Amino acid sequence: MVRKKETFKPYKMKGKIYVKFICPFCKKERSILEESINKRNYCYVCLRKERQQKREEGFEWCGKCERYKEFKDFNFRKDGTIRYCKKCESIYVKKNKNRIKRIRNRWLAENPERRLFYASKKRAKDLEINFDLELKDIKIPRKCPILKIPIFPDRSKSKINSPSIDRIIPELGYTKGNIQIISWRANWLKNNATFFELEKLYEFVCKRREFLNRLSFNHKMDNTLTLERRPG
Ligand SMILES: [Zn+2]
Ligand SMILES: [Zn+2]
Repeated sequence: MVRKKETFKPYKMKGKIYVKFICPFCKKERSILEESINKRNYCYVCLRKERQQKREEGFEWCGKCERYKEFKDFNFRKDGTIRYCKKCESIYVKKNKNRIKRIRNRWLAENPERRLFYASKKRAKDLEINFDLELKDIKIPRKCPILKIPIFPDRSKSKINSPSIDRIIPELGYTKGNIQIISWRANWLKNNATFFELEKLYEFVCKRREFLNRLSFNHKMDNTLTLERRPG
């Protein structure tokens, strides 16, 4: 049982209600969340000590199912932190699919280099090609080196202008020195046409431009004629 010190009343801090009590372990006067009193009867300092002790024994606390579990039951992040145990995390992920998706998309939009980095890493794995890039190798230029259109790192603005990674020699994979960042549009055009097709298309566009130029020249001539013919 928690021995509440009667002289102290519950008080509010950062919107939560705390209560002062004497911890039975360290015998010191401490504060505890009022809602935690029913769960345990020792202070946060002692709690931290307990967690540390358990950690040394190979156990970690899951705040969701509220018990100690072995390390193998957790997914540790790179910084060593955890949220809940694997089981609780998978339940959480299933329940909050859309929310997680939204947060991830926002995070990726704010970190375009990382988005390109992870996307290319996954693609390299799928295509079974080499990958030795580091995050610092991905530098997004302001303009597409091919089409000279501006590149907006924020994908939500325009897909055409969003950055994408081009492999200079595709077979070499996503490797240092073999990539450049170009606009999504340039990459799409490049990947969806063969050299022969591009050549034919170029010839066609040139001819058409020539034809249109001639037309507008005639058009101008017509205008001049009309002007000249106008009385006064
Ligand atoms: Zn204590
Ligand atoms: Zn759990």
